[in-house]
Order: sequence, then structure tokens, then C-alpha cells
Amino acid sequence: MSAIKEKLLQLGIRPSRGLGQHFLIDKRIAVRQVEAAEITEEDTVLEIGPGLGILTSEIVERAGKTIVIEKDTVLSNYLSQEFSERLEIIRGDVLDIELPSFDKVISNIPFNISSPLTFKLLEENFECGVLMYQKEYARRMTAKSGEKNYSRLSVMTSIKSNITKLFDVSRNSFYPPPRVDATVVKIEPSEPGFELGHPDLFARVVRELFNYRRKKIKNALEYGFNIKLSPDIPYGDKRVEKLSPKEISSLVDHMVDKGLF
Ligand code: SAH
Repeated sequence: MSAIKEKLLQLGIRPSRGLGQHFLIDKRIAVRQVEAAEITEEDTVLEIGPGLGILTSEIVERAGKTIVIEKDTVLSNYLSQEFSERLEIIRGDVLDIELPSFDKVISNIPFNISSPLTFKLLEENFECGVLMYQKEYARRMTAKSGEKNYSRLSVMTSIKSNITKLFDVSRNSFYPPPRVDATVVKIEPSEPGFELGHPDLFARVVRELFNYRRKKIKNALEYGFNIKLSPDIPYGDKRVEKLSPKEISSLVDHMVDKGLF
């Protein structure tokens, strides 16, 4: 029996699917993740969903300060015994609380909250994150315009960050194994790289466009917003899946100038 399985039995924990509880059993992966964040003693590191602390024990060795957020009370009690004063533990649901300030975030996050958690993190000011996602989700996060997995998620993360793939992790590295493999990515918050004049409208337009990703821009907008556009709409004949975030932004600017919103 793996050490993790044994520990769970000992603590009387039956992994909860609702809490996305898949515990990493391969220490080498935890080490690679933590090394990728290049933690120094200057850093305050945030970990979300520490579980039994496989990443946590690597983080506390390197960071000046480590803060974890854990929703499961049995686990947070266990961690406070294991790590005592080396760790600041926030007990609660990461989506409900105000995040503490941090320099780096490392997390094997519960997959079922990938989107709300990512966008919550991207509201914060931090240096970098090393985060694990479902493989397909990570593909969509890192895709560029014209690529197969280019999606609303690609666009909305790209205006707030640079995301690079680090490595894949087999589902068999977890107990219990999730249904799909995972990918570790590095997220570095950044500016869009172009003037984003109307962020709220941009988000609305992106939402509508990607409901019709194979259609031409003009048609997608006409369907999505139930409007009639003149034929000279910029990129009108281009397909949604080919339009870069910068082009979407200038399309939005054009529509605002023409009084279409
Ligand atoms: N990082 C650990 C555990 C991963 S399992 C490892 O790699 O082994 C996901 C963890 O996130 C569990 O500890 C679960 O209790 C916790 N969790 C799930 N949803 C959460 C939420 N909304 N807020 C905080 N923690 C959460």
C-alpha cells in the first residue's frame, strides 16, 4: 500500500470527489513543481488545497513564509499538527475568502474549480504560479489563435498572463487516480500587450464569438448580439478561431466607435 493511502486510512479520510481530492503520490513531481517556482527566502508562497502536504513540505523548506488554504477540516487539522508554526493555515473555501498577499502560488488545484480559481488569482498582484490542471484544460489555456484548442479560455487568460506548459503528469501519479491526465503550467501575470480599451465589452464579445468559433466574425456577431452589421466590419470574413486577442480588441473598439453597443 502506498504511504498516502495508508495515511488516509489512518486519518479516516475517504477521498471526496466533490472536493476534487486526488492526492499526489509521486514526490518527484512535487519537487519539480516547487523547483519550477524558483522560491527564495524572500518569497511568501501560497498553496491552495494542500491535502496531505506533499507540495507543502517542499515549499516550507525554501520559502520565507508559506500560507495554505484548505477547505477540509480533517486535513487542515492534520497539517497544523504536522507543520505547526512553519505554516499559516487558512481554513475555508478559497473561492469565498479574500486572498492574502503572496509572491508565488503553487497548487495542485481541485480540477472542479479550475476556472473560478484561475480568474480569482489573476485579479491579484503576484510574480508567478506553478499550477496543475487537467491536460485538456491546460491545452486550452496555452493555445494561440489558429490552433486547435484556441478558445474563450485562451483569450481571457492571455490578456492577463503568460502561460507556459511545463510538463504532463499521468493520472497514475495520484490516489485515487482522476479520470484524466494532468499538466503543470507556469502562469506569469502580465499586461495584454495592446491597448484594451473596453475590458467588459471585450469579455462579452469573446463570450459570444466563441459560441460560434468556426463561423465568420460578421455572422458570429450578428447571431450573438442579434444585430445587423455593415459588410466593412473589420475582420468580418475571418473565422473566430483565427482572430487574435489584439484583433478582437480592435474589433470591439470599432464597434464602440460605430455606436453598436
Ligand atoms: N495538493 C495535494 C492535494 C490535492 S487534492 C496533493 O497534490 O496531493 C485537492 C485539495 O484541495 C484537497 O486537499 C481538497 O480538500 C482541497 N480543496 C478542494 N476544494 C477546495 C476549495 N474550494 N478551497 C480550498 N481547498 C479545497
